Amino acid sequence: MELRKDYILERWVVISEGRAKRPREFKKKPIDVDDKICHFCSGNEHLTPPEISRVEEDGKWKIRVIPNKFPFMIEEGFTDIRTDNIFFTYSHAYGKHEVIVETEDHEKQLYDLTHDEIKEVLNMYKSRFNALSKLFETKYVVLFKNHGAEAGTSIVHSHSQITSMAKMPTLIQDKLNAVKKFDSCPYCDIINIEKGSDRRCFENNSFVAFTPYASRFNYEVWLFSKRHCKNINELNDDEMNDLTEIMVKILRKLKELNCSYNFTVFNSPTNEDLHFHIEFLPRMATWAGFEFSTDIVINSINPEQAAEFYRE
Ligand SMILES: [Zn+2]
Ligand SMILES: [Zn+2]
Repeated sequence: MELRKDYILERWVVISEGRAKRPREFKKKPIDVDDKICHFCSGNEHLTPPEISRVEEDGKWKIRVIPNKFPFMIEEGFTDIRTDNIFFTYSHAYGKHEVIVETEDHEKQLYDLTHDEIKEVLNMYKSRFNALSKLFETKYVVLFKNHGAEAGTSIVHSHSQITSMAKMPTLIQDKLNAVKKFDSCPYCDIINIEKGSDRRCFENNSFVAFTPYASRFNYEVWLFSKRHCKNINELNDDEMNDLTEIMVKILRKLKELNCSYNFTVFNSPTNEDLHFHIEFLPRMATWAGFEFSTDIVINSINPEQAAEFYRE
């Protein structure tokens, strides 16, 4: 498991041979998985690595956290960054990689769960974020969900993933550097402007959702806490309720779009100051030659039109 940097750019890759062997239930289309054993279903707990945490009701689990059987970060090797012959910069992909199974029900996806069930999943995010961010080596905790083949899901059973990293990802460092160019948090101002713009989607007491001005994905939507919180751990119970309420609305709309999507939860690294937010990235378009030539994305749905879809 190795982290390698581009010869001259701040662009990193994980070389992770083992993951090619992981089971793929999705090829082009989801194949019928009934004939396969699902490791995330109840009854098959013995097939997973030893459990880390669970939420139980009436003696049965509802949410289960387990180590990823095919991790791309492992607690092996070194965490410092080394360079050989100027151009070869590398480290080990050092960290923990866990899977959060969001429901025991194989037939349900996250967007099918009730408000209370989704809130329990978010509370589990909170507790795992808390645990992983406290590890000595952790520079950043990555928390995300892949839904559907185009979003990179290899297992149909609804789950999300959390990874601790001993290296600060370039994207997070870029965000932190960009924020520092302002006298105060730019996102606090952006929220205030966007909640009154044609890109507004949803708002309640403590959260605002809008389609970002320069959306890269069709129907991309961002969800911010109104209060300047740095991470999910700082949210009180009322705020967790408000977060869930808008999350449910966004997820129901994603279900209506019937597309693959990723979402990623941006928590500030410890001792840094990034405004807590979640980005939802529907994966309807394929990035092609232009995107890879320029790093400029062509988005065929304008964000104002996308916001109308969320509001209707
Ligand atoms: Zn299952
Ligand atoms: Zn802020």
